[in-house]
Amino acid sequence: MHHMTAQTLYPSGTEGHPSKIAVIGAGAVGTAVAYACAMRGDARTIVLQDINKKKVEAEALDIAHGIQFTPCGAVEGSDDVEIVRGSDLVIVTAGAKQKPGQTRLELAGSTVNLMKTIVPNLQNVAPHARFMFITNPVDIVTYAALKIMGVPRNQVFGSGTVLDTSRLRYLVSRETGVATQNIHAYVTGEHGDSEVALWSSAEIGNVPIRHWGPTLSGRLFDSDLRKEIAEEVTQSAYKIIEGKGATNYAIGLSAANIARAVLRDENRVLTISSLLEDWEGISDVCMAAPTIVGRMGAGRVLNPPLTLAERDGLTESARRLRAVAQELGF
Ligand code: NAD
Repeated sequence: MHHMTAQTLYPSGTEGHPSKIAVIGAGAVGTAVAYACAMRGDARTIVLQDINKKKVEAEALDIAHGIQFTPCGAVEGSDDVEIVRGSDLVIVTAGAKQKPGQTRLELAGSTVNLMKTIVPNLQNVAPHARFMFITNPVDIVTYAALKIMGVPRNQVFGSGTVLDTSRLRYLVSRETGVATQNIHAYVTGEHGDSEVALWSSAEIGNVPIRHWGPTLSGRLFDSDLRKEIAEEVTQSAYKIIEGKGATNYAIGLSAANIARAVLRDENRVLTISSLLEDWEGISDVCMAAPTIVGRMGAGRVLNPPLTLAERDGLTESARRLRAVAQELGF
């Protein structure tokens, strides 16, 4: 039913059939991801799957009723995993909400157990799909899923710090008045408290940030301002959750952006979370680093210039993540 029409209107970058994205979990995040993908036309077909039948059907219908105003062709929802069959990209958001004050790492145990039950079923219906995990703690969930699935590293990745990077660029943009799209700065490492903003390689346009001079508020990008901004990035999820119970719109757009990079084979540099193999001396852990994202999924991981402090921060982030993964038996 999904593949009958519009083959030429919606060429897929994948395997000669219209592109299809499956979003698992129709909660605050999953619905925002599906809505963003539909609005942007990131795939011809977008399906939502959730164990809550009434909710997932209602959410899908609500988005589908707006298809006329989007470049997207179909939106469907079901509690049956069968709806995922034939997907090019599976985006997993199923899980429990991060409660106010709870760290992402505290969520780890129960969430990994949930993945042990749902991931094999998804792999069964979409064995060739790329898998993107958003469920927190995203780096641990991604690593666990990669081990559960036993597939090459490119096929499984997490949304990592794509959202955090976007938050950082937003704050630098506000400080300088320069468009967010022209701020080139990356947040890397754990999506969480130990993440590392790579200030030493940050540029505005092509001006190194340390040469920028006074900002709109008359400050310089000295260590105080950098620390303030980086802390605001790390704390913003807690703040938003306190105010509205979840973060969803910006992660929805972040995920849609990653999805497009995969489905259109864009080879964009994005700070997704993937298995690192001797990256800056770090191995056997999934965490965020600037990575080429295209049809293959997670491609080459770039090696930006790092200060010693940045490198130490990343090593510590990896150590923390590896310790949690080991505690959970991975
Ligand atoms: P939510 O509670 O609103 O939605 C979760 C949904 O998952 C629910 O609808 C639930 O029914 C569904 N679900 C539970 N078990 C399922 C199963 N076995 N199969 C299918 N669906 C199932 O939560 P949310 O606010 O949407 O957050 C989802 C996850 O995303 C959380 O782990 C959250 O921490 C994470 N998150 C990650 C980022 C990031 O940048 N990585 C950003 C925001 C949120």
